[in-house]
Amino acid sequence: MNENEKMPTNNDYRKKQLDRRNERRKLARKKEKKRRRILFFSIVVILILIIIKIISSIFSNKNTKVSIEPIERTLPTWYLEQSIREQNGKYDNSHAEHVTANDKIYIAYDKATGIRKRLVKGSNHISSAAPYAYNTKEIRQYIRGEKTYEGKDKLVFLTFDDGPNTVITPQILSTLEKNNVHATFFVVGKNVTESHYPVLKRTVMNGNALALHSFSHDYDALYPGRSANPQKILEEARLAEGRLKKVFGEDYSSKVWRYPGGHMSWDNVHASDEALAKDNYEWLDWNSLTGDAERKAVRPTNTKEQVDYLAKSLHQNLHSEVAVVLMHDAVNKQLTADNLQAVIDYFKENDYKFGILK
Ligand SMILES: [Zn+2]
Repeated sequence: MNENEKMPTNNDYRKKQLDRRNERRKLARKKEKKRRRILFFSIVVILILIIIKIISSIFSNKNTKVSIEPIERTLPTWYLEQSIREQNGKYDNSHAEHVTANDKIYIAYDKATGIRKRLVKGSNHISSAAPYAYNTKEIRQYIRGEKTYEGKDKLVFLTFDDGPNTVITPQILSTLEKNNVHATFFVVGKNVTESHYPVLKRTVMNGNALALHSFSHDYDALYPGRSANPQKILEEARLAEGRLKKVFGEDYSSKVWRYPGGHMSWDNVHASDEALAKDNYEWLDWNSLTGDAERKAVRPTNTKEQVDYLAKSLHQNLHSEVAVVLMHDAVNKQLTADNLQAVIDYFKENDYKFGILK
């Protein structure tokens, strides 16, 4: 009897224990399920946030960033960058007679779409620079008196040799930018290295032109015994241009050449001119200078002296309606950077329009 009474109690107890254990297990499973669900949803939310961030960064790059980096992405398709909109108002079409039919199409398209930063295919400048980009050969003929300039505006071409670098070139660019005028930079090919890509891109993006000033700038290699070596010179023009194509893509091309030391300084340049012309390279010297690379004894040492030197050299020409000004943006030319404002003022006061060379 006692045993019979005991048994059900024991069974009950065991059953209850089992039930409780099952209950606990169920709860534990539920908890685990809940934990996993939370983990899963957290991962999904994090993934969505990452995707949104990536997409928004792509769009914000496209729409708001008018900095230098986007060019590298877009340049291989020669489609440079959306307009800097505030430049639209400053559109200068005053030299439109120098614009080719090809340029006109770009300009019309860009005006219609508001795009101002497209590289003119096969050229050394962006489309908004086309109205003030002049043929090098033509300018050479004017300053050498081989042809008479009959344009209504006086023209000045500010040129800077021996760059680029990150010391002087950016200062020159800032002063040009501030004045809304443009220049041509004759770069040395060996200086066209990755660390200078940003400054080169800024140069072009700002509406300036890049030109070639050899690859090595080595007189002994280019002019052994003071006599130009046509093959070597052509090779260096190609090398320097090749470096620029590396920066801006295959559709970029600069056919503007300046001899280190100047065309006027060497023998046998006629032969090298011909070699260059076969590849469509056109050379150009200058007809005025600030004297920033003259020998120490005659080199101007302050702003006034540089501007005086410039004015004097310009007026030694029979015709001064077209001015090609030699300056340098090498690392030790701080005075050139400091005096550029005065040089620009001089030409503005004398009613010159600023052009670039193509
Ligand atoms: Zn030079």
